[in-house]
This record gives sequence, C-alpha cells and structure tokens, in this order.
Amino acid sequence: MNKKEVLISVKNISKIYELGEIKVKALDSVSLDIYKGDFLIIVGRNGSGKSTLLHQLGLLDKPNFGKIFLQGNEVINMKEKERTKLRLNFLGYIFQEYALIAELSALENVMLPAMMLTSYKSCKHKAKTLLKKVGLEKKSDNLSSQLSGGEQQKVAIARSLINDPMVIFADEPTANLDTVAAKEVLAIFKALNKEGHTIVMVTHEKEEEAYANRIIKLADGKII
Ligand code: ADP
Ligand code: MG
Repeated sequence: MNKKEVLISVKNISKIYELGEIKVKALDSVSLDIYKGDFLIIVGRNGSGKSTLLHQLGLLDKPNFGKIFLQGNEVINMKEKERTKLRLNFLGYIFQEYALIAELSALENVMLPAMMLTSYKSCKHKAKTLLKKVGLEKKSDNLSSQLSGGEQQKVAIARSLINDPMVIFADEPTANLDTVAAKEVLAIFKALNKEGHTIVMVTHEKEEEAYANRIIKLADGKII
C-alpha cells in the first residue's frame, strides 16, 4: 500500500494568549499530521481551541512553542512575507462569517486572492468557472451584500479555491446557515474532497462528522 503523503505536520505546538495578567493556554502540546486527500474534522466544546488550531495550521498565526512543517518545510521561523506567499498559494480559508467584501460583487470577491498572482483576464475566467462550480453563475454580478448567507458561503468557497490550494480550512462554515443551505455547503465540500481536495473543517454539528475520514476531538487545548 502507498504511504500517504503528509502535507502539514504539527509537532507539539502550544499557543498561549496573554491578556494583561491573564494567560490562556489555548493549545497544549498538540501534534497532528494532515494527509493529502483527508477530510479531517475537528470537534470539541466552545473554547477548546479549535479555531486556534486552525489558525496555526493555516499560517494565520504562530504558536509559542513547537514546530509546523508544510510539505517538510518548517514555517514558523519563516519571514512573514514568505508565510503570506505560502498562504496565498497553498492554503484556502473559509470562515463562519463568510468574510466577503460587501462592496464587491460575488465575482470580484472570488477573483481577489488571485489578482496578485495572475492576469486580470485569467482571474476572471477562473472565478467564473468556480462560481459555476458552486452553482452561483447567475449571481456573479450581485454585490455580496445582496446574497443570502448560504450564497455568501458558496462565494467564500469559490474564493478559497481560486489559487488551487493544497489544503482548504473551514471554521464552522455552516454555523450561520439554515439546514438546507448547510446541506448544500457540505455537499460542495464532499464533492471537492472526492475530486482530491484536502479539507480540514471545524464543526459543532454531530451529523457533520459523517463527512470525515478522520475526526479529532479537542478538550482544553489537547487532542483527546
Ligand atoms: P474554539 O474555536 O474551540 O471555540 P478558540 O480556539 O477560539 O476555541 O479559543 C480557545 C481559548 O483561547 C478560549 O479560552 C478562548 O477564550 C481563548 N482565545 C481565543 N482567541 C483569543 C485571543 N485572540 N485572545 C485571548 N484569548 C483567546
Ligand atoms: Mg471557534
């Protein structure tokens, strides 16, 4: 059997937030490998460190201790410019609150992360293809503020795909959606994973665990 390729490897990372005198250990010596093709789901109670872990994996933040490797390269001590490059080229991020720019159209939101990397024309073409993929080609000229929550999250998924990321991170992507929209969003993730995309998703919903090939549970910043 082929050994699975490790895309991201996390070794004993700890994250401590300091708020004045108060220190919160949000992650406590977490180790984890993310394999190519994974649909990894992270569960745990509120405040257990799920978002913090996703931020470290997605290079949005740095842990206080431990090491993180992206395809074998240590990324914590890299210059911020290098980390930004890696984020832009290799990682896609989807937030609970969509995080779209209200004043831009659906199409422009999807194009945005590719604008620094490629020509306007090819961004636009690719963004159109991706909006079609998530079933929103008819809404491409709507401002994102004119879209429903489910539609906004689909735009956010299309945006996360624009630079062909190696891993897609989603932090409670269905938490603000009604049941129908949540199912549609999950169906998109499932299809993407089937196509070979690696997905790491945080969820609160027990029934969403069925989508995972691996589940990890956090409690008090530790994997249990
Ligand atoms: P989850 O996503 O599982 O709800 P978080 O990763 O957001 O958990 O938070 C883990 C712990 O770290 C919680 O105790 C939370 O209050 C704390 N925390 C998260 N972000 C910050 C921050 N920016 N500053 C201070 N404490 C934080
Ligand atoms: Mg969270």
